[in-house]
Amino acid sequence: MRLYNTLTRTPEDFEPLRDGTVRMYTCGLTVYARGHIGNFRTFVCVDVLRRALKYVGGWQMRHVMNFTDVDDKTIAGAEREGVGLREYTDRYVEAFRQDAATLGIEPVEETPRATDQANLDAMARMIRQLEARGHTYRSDGSIYFKISTLPDYGKLARLDHEGIQAGARVDVDEYSKEDARDFVLWKATKPGEPTWDCGVGPGRPGWHIECSAMAMRLLGEPPIDIHTGGVDLVFPHHENEIAQSEGATGQPFSRFWVHIEHLLVDGQKMSKSLGNVYTLSDITERGFRVSALRYLLLSSHYRKQLNFTWAGMQDAENALRRLTDFLGRLDAVRGGPAHPEIVGAASAARAAFDEALSDDLNTSAGLAAMFDLVRTVNTAIDQKAIGEPDVGTIRHAFAHFDEVLGVLSLRQDEDRRPPIPEEEIAAALAARQAARRARDFAEADRIRDEMAARGILFEDGPQGTRWKRK
Ligand code: AMP
Ligand code: ZN
Repeated sequence: MRLYNTLTRTPEDFEPLRDGTVRMYTCGLTVYARGHIGNFRTFVCVDVLRRALKYVGGWQMRHVMNFTDVDDKTIAGAEREGVGLREYTDRYVEAFRQDAATLGIEPVEETPRATDQANLDAMARMIRQLEARGHTYRSDGSIYFKISTLPDYGKLARLDHEGIQAGARVDVDEYSKEDARDFVLWKATKPGEPTWDCGVGPGRPGWHIECSAMAMRLLGEPPIDIHTGGVDLVFPHHENEIAQSEGATGQPFSRFWVHIEHLLVDGQKMSKSLGNVYTLSDITERGFRVSALRYLLLSSHYRKQLNFTWAGMQDAENALRRLTDFLGRLDAVRGGPAHPEIVGAASAARAAFDEALSDDLNTSAGLAAMFDLVRTVNTAIDQKAIGEPDVGTIRHAFAHFDEVLGVLSLRQDEDRRPPIPEEEIAAALAARQAARRARDFAEADRIRDEMAARGILFEDGPQGTRWKRK
């Protein structure tokens, strides 16, 4: 398998270093708000990478994805709502787990939280190692990383020492630093902020040390195989993770760095002020299904920006439906012998799919291979040049495509359960019935339309009204 490595700016052959097991770390959500579809572009692409490593590469996974549950935003959020930090972040951890499951994201082996005691202890240990190796200084109770002590600082982001400026994307904090380019490892206690004392003085961790310490604690001896996240994390977060981990151990930290490009909305950055930050419920409230969003998020290459539009959502829905309609059409094939052309087309599609996914996760070429097979088989069905054994072969090929893409099985799971609780549907049916009996047809229509917008269609028939999924 080839993967583009941000560290070398080239695609490189990948295989895990040890035991046929890929040790991978993904920077997870900062749990101060519900994840938005931009975050989920990254997490869906990482999920496809994980599945491709398993089902195309044939390797086992040891995959860590953290929750950043202490930083300025989580602390401010908890303060604003007058609840403890843990109670505040618990909600968003839970919301993330739900959203990830709704999107068909495979659970990973480890989901550590920065404020777990074992992780705080690992951070303190790493800071003491950095102190012992002369990479730090203390100022006003905080501990900083002195980047001038590491000659190759900047190798991931390709910055030279002089070029790094204190700006919006560099840590600008109010703590006193010797050099604007240095970054904080441990922040001194401030009134009203949570504080821990794990052997480096009272305070709280900086963001970067969290990931370095959790990756090394849970994945073992560096280097790990792959480190992933969104492209905005290259600098300063990942650069600083490298500085800390390599400064503490003297070993390379991660062999591969894989970065997912951003999701834009109508050509613009997603931001609260533009009102274009969408969560999964915004998608379903527009009548779309989360499986269509997953399809959209994985259908273009992860290293290209993806522009989210509602028309694009509709295209994704149509494409996904072509696949599910095709699989439905196979049910009607009865009897007959196997056809060598179909068997050949199925194995060619499998080979093309695996080759595409092995080529730096080229999902659009993988989908093209699937649609080629759909076209070939549709023609065969029209010409009655297909038999029941062929159907098994084709289904088998699609099962393989979908263990990597995880989108057809997600659609089938959705089909088995309504998008909103059945009690709500029953209540809406009863309310509409009552409105009709009272001859308030405007109200009855309003209820029907509201349910349609939420993905439920009412069908009136001689047996009364029944509902089905849109
Ligand atoms: P955060 O909660 O800000 O730490 O972000 C969690 C993950 O989502 C990180 O890997 C970010 O790089 C990624 N991310 C944030 N915004 C976007 C976006 N618009 N498109 C893709 N990934 C994003
Ligand atoms: Zn991180």
